[in-house]
Amino acid sequence: MNIGFVGLGIMGSAMAANLLKAGYQLTVWNRSPEKCEPLVASGAKAVTTPRQVAETSDIVCAMMATPQAVMAVRDGADGILAGMAPGKGYLDFSTIDLETSKETARLARERGALFLEAPVAGSRKPAEDATLTIMAAGDRALFDTALPVMEAMGKKILFLGEVGNAARMKLANNLIMGGMMASLAEGMALAARSGLDLSQLLEVLDSGAMSNPMFRLKGPAIAANAEFPPAFPLKHMQKDLRLALRLAEEVCQPLFVAATVNELYKGALASGLGDSDFAAVSRLVRG
Ligand code: NAP
Repeated sequence: MNIGFVGLGIMGSAMAANLLKAGYQLTVWNRSPEKCEPLVASGAKAVTTPRQVAETSDIVCAMMATPQAVMAVRDGADGILAGMAPGKGYLDFSTIDLETSKETARLARERGALFLEAPVAGSRKPAEDATLTIMAAGDRALFDTALPVMEAMGKKILFLGEVGNAARMKLANNLIMGGMMASLAEGMALAARSGLDLSQLLEVLDSGAMSNPMFRLKGPAIAANAEFPPAFPLKHMQKDLRLALRLAEEVCQPLFVAATVNELYKGALASGLGDSDFAAVSRLVRG
C-alpha cells in the first residue's frame, strides 16, 4: 500500500517516520520543504504539491496545525482533493473543528474517495514511540483498511462513528488537559511563593489520586522555570480551547472553568509564548 503524508511538523514528521519503519512506501509534502529531508534520507519520496501526494498514494494522511492549514492543503488546483479518486482514502489527523472536518468528508466523498477524521492524543514522545491514541470517525470501510497503517503510529485506536465525533472527543480531551496544566501551574506558583520545596510538592502529587504522566513530565520543568521547548505548542492548546468553547456554545453547555482557562492561555499567547510548550503558561501564572 502506498501512503502519503502532508504536514511534517512536530507530530507529522514523527508519525511519518513510523510509517517508513513499518515498511510502507511513503510520499511526503510539507509547506517548508526542508522538513521532508530527514524522511527522504530514510527512503521517502518528496513531491512538490499535496495533489501529487494524493495522486501517488492509496491513503493520504494529513497532520495540519489549524482548520485554515487543513483547507490550504486540501483545496485548489494543487490540493489533496484534486488528486483524490475512487478507491483512495483521506485520513486527517489534525485537531480541528467538526465543521471543517465534515466539509472535508463531503468533498472527498464527492470525488468517490473515503474519509476518516482521526485526531490523536499524545505528544512528541508518544508520536515517536508509536504509542498515540487515535480517535477515528467516518467511513468504516476506510477504518478497516487503514487499521494497520494507524497501528504503525498508535497503540490505542478507537472508531467513534460518524464524522464529527472524533473532533468532539479530541476537544473534550484537550479542554481537560488545558485545565489540568493551568491548575498545576497555579498550585506550583502558590507553593513556591509560600516557600515550599516544589520537588516535594510533585512527590506529594505523584503519591496520591492525582498522579499522572503529564504532571510527572512537565512538573520538573515548571519547577525549574527553565526553557519550554515545544512538544505541544501553546498556540495549539489555545486553538483547542477556542474550538472547545465554540462547540460548547453550539450545544449550550456552560464551561465555567474552561472559559477562564482560555483567557489564561490567550494571555500567554499575547506574551509571546505561543511557540513554547503549553507548560510555559506557568510563566504567566508565576508573574
Ligand atoms: P506544528 O509542529 O506546528 O506543525 C504544523 C504543520 O502544519 C506543519 O507541517 C506546518 O507547515 C503546517 N502548516 C501550518 N499552516 C499551514 C498552511 N497555511 N499551509 C500549509 N501548511 C501549514 O504542529 P504539531 O504539533 O505537529 O500539531 C499538528 C496538529 O496536531 C495540530 O492540530 C495540533 O493541535 C495537533 N496535536 C499536536 C500534539 C502535540 O503534542 N504537538 C498532540 C496531539 C495533537 P510548516 O512546517 O511549513 O510550518
